[in-house]
Amino acid sequence: MRTLSVETNNKIGQEVTLKGWVNARRNMGKIVFLDLRDRAGIVQVVGVPAELDEASQEKLKTVRPEWVVEIRGVVNARGAKQQNPEMPTGMVEVLAKELKVLAEAEPLPLDLEDEKIGMDVHLDYLPLTLRADKYRAVFKIQAEIVRGFRDYLNTQGFTEIQAPKIVAAAAEGGADVFEVSYLKNKATLAQSPQFYKQIMVGVFERVFAVGNCFRAEQHATTRHLNEFTGLDLEMGMITDHHDVMDLEMAMMRHILNHLDATVSSELKIWKYARPLLPEKVPFMTLREVQQLIKEKTGVDHISEPDLEPSEEKWLGEYAKTIFNSDFIFVTHYPTSKRPMYTYPDEKNPEFTKSFDLLFRGIEITSGGQRHNDYNALVKSMENKGLNPEDFKFYLEAFKYGMPPEGGFGLGLERLTARLLEIDNVKYATLFPRDLNRIDLQISPPEYKQ
Ligand code: ATP
Ligand code: MG
Repeated sequence: MRTLSVETNNKIGQEVTLKGWVNARRNMGKIVFLDLRDRAGIVQVVGVPAELDEASQEKLKTVRPEWVVEIRGVVNARGAKQQNPEMPTGMVEVLAKELKVLAEAEPLPLDLEDEKIGMDVHLDYLPLTLRADKYRAVFKIQAEIVRGFRDYLNTQGFTEIQAPKIVAAAAEGGADVFEVSYLKNKATLAQSPQFYKQIMVGVFERVFAVGNCFRAEQHATTRHLNEFTGLDLEMGMITDHHDVMDLEMAMMRHILNHLDATVSSELKIWKYARPLLPEKVPFMTLREVQQLIKEKTGVDHISEPDLEPSEEKWLGEYAKTIFNSDFIFVTHYPTSKRPMYTYPDEKNPEFTKSFDLLFRGIEITSGGQRHNDYNALVKSMENKGLNPEDFKFYLEAFKYGMPPEGGFGLGLERLTARLLEIDNVKYATLFPRDLNRIDLQISPPEYKQ
């Protein structure tokens, strides 16, 4: 029976069979140390020729990083000087008795633990570079973020839905829409599950979706991808956008606790500092923020419809210093700049009951209360120069009783990047699509970043 790397801890003195990849090989004279990696972790194997049969001795000479091997051996406690408390299996090692090769690997084109590998090389070799400890950690953590998101919402009465990715009309407006040919017609790739999650509020009241979102971003930045993973939710029976904001932060707290409980050793690899998340996350209106920036820095952007990246960064630092929070909500973006489904503030309809959540100085979420009244929604479309006929299908949901509702969209890769303080979102994206790359480079060099 197979033993996983981390299970060796409880099997001192016993014979085990391990299967895994050679993560590293170290020669000490005739003795060979192999770090063996499997799905659960890494364990050190000691290969002493005298302990092995002849065939195994030969194999021990040849195995290199990424070879897949099967090792029968005995688990021993490490000597006091060899112990490594940083490593989950750092108190044991396996003395090999037999070694079989399950799959060979070509010599590696790069050293997986090399800190200086550039972005392009990293991406060109992703099937290999993703195996490095650092990146296995990133995507293990990411998987647990998704699990935490799901688990929390399931306890709060949300139903998970699958929204289509081939859609007829752009939900978020703007130019960043991918057109695709659709048999004899044209369609677009969904920028978000917006319409479908709203329709589903009429069915289930509370819904969420984890799914791919497509944006034809015409620029190369450290925060934009052409395909990202949206963590989306939508909930009915709200009073206003604050209900959605409160739920988001309760969800965030759950996710942070979940990460501590499940991936603490992966977090350690990234020198993770748990984000500051106060009981009540601060919130300010866009105009208040702009006023503050004017007072503190002299920059007057009071008539701008959004914050610039440098202003978001400034506000992130301000929130940390003044409110002891790595998160801050900015609310009340102008009605003219938010999508047509956004609910205007009754007190000042030029501004909306919408919010962005900034995490360590970068937007990770947009959300808010939505129009739930059919006539108001049609009017809002018209005000934006949109033809309600184009949205006939979506509008059906609002004809037949839609409660006051709201929701948000959270970018999984941006959240992961901010959490681990990774400065380019592509390192927190499994297979990033950008201006000049779909897996491999697709564009001529002048398009390069
Ligand atoms: P930005 O202003 O940063 O371009 P946005 O306001 O266009 O983003 P939204 O439509 O509000 O984005 O999407 C909700 C969330 O989805 C964002 O807060 C972000 O976390 C994520 N997101 C949006 N566009 C992208 C993208 N191109 N790449 C990665 N994540 C994205
Ligand atoms: Mg946004």
